[in-house]
Amino acid sequence: MTSFPATPETTPGAARPTVLITGTSSGIGLAAAVAAARAGWRTIATLRDTGRADALREAAAEAGVEVDIRQLDVVDERSVAAAIDGVIADHGRLDAVVNNAGAGHVGTLELETVADVREVMEVNFFGVLNVSKAALPHLRASGGRLITVTSVGGVVGQPFNEAYCAAKFAVEGYMESLAPVAGAVGVSVSVVEPGAVATEFVNNLGLDIEGTLAAAGPYADAMHSYVNRTVSQFMDGAQTPAGAAEAVMEALTAERPAFRIQTSQWARDFTGTKLADGDGSAVIGMTTGWVS
Ligand code: NAP
Repeated sequence: MTSFPATPETTPGAARPTVLITGTSSGIGLAAAVAAARAGWRTIATLRDTGRADALREAAAEAGVEVDIRQLDVVDERSVAAAIDGVIADHGRLDAVVNNAGAGHVGTLELETVADVREVMEVNFFGVLNVSKAALPHLRASGGRLITVTSVGGVVGQPFNEAYCAAKFAVEGYMESLAPVAGAVGVSVSVVEPGAVATEFVNNLGLDIEGTLAAAGPYADAMHSYVNRTVSQFMDGAQTPAGAAEAVMEALTAERPAFRIQTSQWARDFTGTKLADGDGSAVIGMTTGWVS
């Protein structure tokens, strides 16, 4: 049997559990950092550029909580090592990591270079591995949790999101494979799957829609339909970052978190078009048996 960690102790006087979250300048990471601090976690809120921490500082002040802001660029192994070593030096423990940092990409094979795809993989896949690898010895020591924000696009491939979905599929495959192995040494592994969330995600694409459509050649009509559908999905049905962060908190605090946690009923329904094992318990139950 896998021995999953007990929920970390948050009673007054006890050592506060420590969580490190990546990509907290905005969106789900910012909301998760505030929610974790509010729930009593010592929260290490990391950003690749600490000059972009104003919104986080304001949200924390508004919530009346403290967050420990540190630099961490997920694609820079030295930055990752420095951040994690610093947390251990200052707090002596690491109980959970939330791999939240990520970036979208819109394109398709004929309209992008392989180098573009590698860049998407670098942030969304190898970035997650860089942080997870550096954190695992400490999570093993604490019987902690490794949580990664993936996407419904880590389950269902979506047009003009080939590279992004490939990276999120890769993360899901890696984490689903790691889960029973990490479980054998006392670390629980979960992925959190948002659908559309109203964050800086779309702005951060830096997409010039008119220019992209004009350069799309034979793909212009299909891309036009995709853009219209995506805009209306974000306008009509996007979840709040705080709503999505609730799923991160579930992964952080549930006594036995599921492997796969969708952030909304919409996300459950959408991934349900493909998944027979919505929370991952059937697969993890089976593969855990292979290592116990
Ligand atoms: P967001 O507001 O754009 O936040 C993304 C965060 O990742 C930002 O803080 C960004 O920092 C950071 N980041 C990007 N590259 C980084 C790097 N190399 N090192 C460290 N941090 C980096 O978007 P979000 O929606 O909150 O995204 C959070 C996660 O949710 C991502 O993994 C995303 O793929 C996933 N997701 C989002 C949606 C959605 O609809 N919003 C849907 C499904 C999944 P900077 O400010 O420095 O750029």
